[in-house]
Amino acid sequence: MQTDVLVLGGLSGITAGLSCRRHYPDKKVVLVRKEGTVLIPCGIPYIYGTVGGPQNNVIPDGLLETNNIELVKGEAVSVDREHKLVTLKDGETILYDKLVFATGSLPLVPPIPGVDKKNIYAIKKDFNYLDSVLDEMKSVKDLVIVGGGFIGVEFADECRKGRDINVTVIEALSHCLQMALDDEFCAEAEAKLLETGVKIMTGVKVEAFVGDEAVSGVKLADGTVIKADMVILGIGATPNTELAQKAGLELGFRNAIKVDRYMQTYTDPNVFACGDCAEKQSFFTGRPTGVMLASIATSEARIAGANLYSTVHQNCGAISVFSTIVNGRAFAVAGLTERQARQYGMNIVIGKAEAPDTHPGGMPNSTLIKVKLVFAKETGVLIGGSISGGKSIGEMVNVLSACIMHRMTADDIVKFQMGTHPALTSSPIAYPIVNAACKAVLPIRQ
Ligand SMILES: Cc1cc2nc3c(=O)[nH]c(=O)nc-3n(C[C@H](O)[C@H](O)[C@H](O)COP(=O)(O)OP(=O)(O)OC[C@H]3O[C@@H](n4cnc5c(N)ncnc54)[C@H](O)[C@@H]3O)c2cc1C
Repeated sequence: MQTDVLVLGGLSGITAGLSCRRHYPDKKVVLVRKEGTVLIPCGIPYIYGTVGGPQNNVIPDGLLETNNIELVKGEAVSVDREHKLVTLKDGETILYDKLVFATGSLPLVPPIPGVDKKNIYAIKKDFNYLDSVLDEMKSVKDLVIVGGGFIGVEFADECRKGRDINVTVIEALSHCLQMALDDEFCAEAEAKLLETGVKIMTGVKVEAFVGDEAVSGVKLADGTVIKADMVILGIGATPNTELAQKAGLELGFRNAIKVDRYMQTYTDPNVFACGDCAEKQSFFTGRPTGVMLASIATSEARIAGANLYSTVHQNCGAISVFSTIVNGRAFAVAGLTERQARQYGMNIVIGKAEAPDTHPGGMPNSTLIKVKLVFAKETGVLIGGSISGGKSIGEMVNVLSACIMHRMTADDIVKFQMGTHPALTSSPIAYPIVNAACKAVLPIRQ
């Protein structure tokens, strides 16, 4: 087979393919991916509760068909850059003109004794694997989740839904979600999780997984053993770049593929990379960062697809915007938290505000929104924002991301003309993003 553009990977790879199609309608685009069916990765925790199974959490292939992107189901096992040839596991070969690596990431499996016991699962983005975990979970009584990041917390929340099982989250840091949120938001999220009956153990490290063939308990550093007939590992992911390395592409931070601001690899002008497998620079520091999010992956994919034959877009770096929901309360962050800004030694001003997400606040289902904004003291530029509240904050945080990307100041945000409606938003008098900025203006000027 021969193609103009060959994309390896079925998630941000789709976006890269679509972007290429938009910019270069005459090019032949082929996408190779390992799986028969691609799951929505961010929806994986919801397979175990809200959506009821992996079949309800898939990305339809229709998008590829309607955009004339040819799908090949198979695993790429070698890349010969000199001859521009990719070989698949079944022996098929594909000649390309431009190649895009979108091979993603793999879940981290910690080298803890006993980690290879039965019933210990890392979160692979694989339909059949996750379906078998769902099946196993039917007979589980004591589920232990190692890692209280957003994946672990979402799993804990979802796995209790419709199941009378003991769920314990074990987190080495002093709070769940501490890598993502400031302490006050972590405490709020933990309180919501505790309400569901999930047990949380923070500041403790797992020393071993005990049991015979299958896991029966999780041994902590202080010798305590927590009963477990299933363990889920949610401790992070690592770039999937073995194939890239074999192809001779230069790897950088945490073995991610080194790319420039155009998503072109350092090594080969005909090879691009995007998503979890590609190295990222922080928007704020310009230094490499290990953050892996679908928002970043798809942004990079749009850039990579557009830049294949001419320079269209430039990557501004990873802002890191994400949201989650714990027992009905949503938490979201764009950019830096106060803790991260202080760790970078930045001189900052904080502005905080709260308001109900309807006006009057007594409307049915009204929820209190809490906003915390972080500004650079010298310039007044917004560098981060955290929000908790109801579903609306999932989009409010995207407003903050846009403000951050365009380096808006507290002064700019004070002048925001926000659309409001009694049933849909906070009051224009109390709009918490604006009011938090208002509170920061004087301290910034002092
Ligand atoms: C449980 C979970 C929840 C998450 N929730 C969120 C969230 O709420 N918000 C958010 O922003 N991010 C979230 N993320 C992170 C997000 O899913 C990733 O950042 C995103 O999936 C990265 O996309 P990607 O295309 O780079 O990689 P991946 O999603 O890992 O996709 C890689 C693709 O490449 C294919 N592939 C790999 N090697 C080969 C090969 N040799 N040949 C052919 N195909 C190959 C794979 O099969 C796969 O299709 C979550 C992740 C997980 C695991």
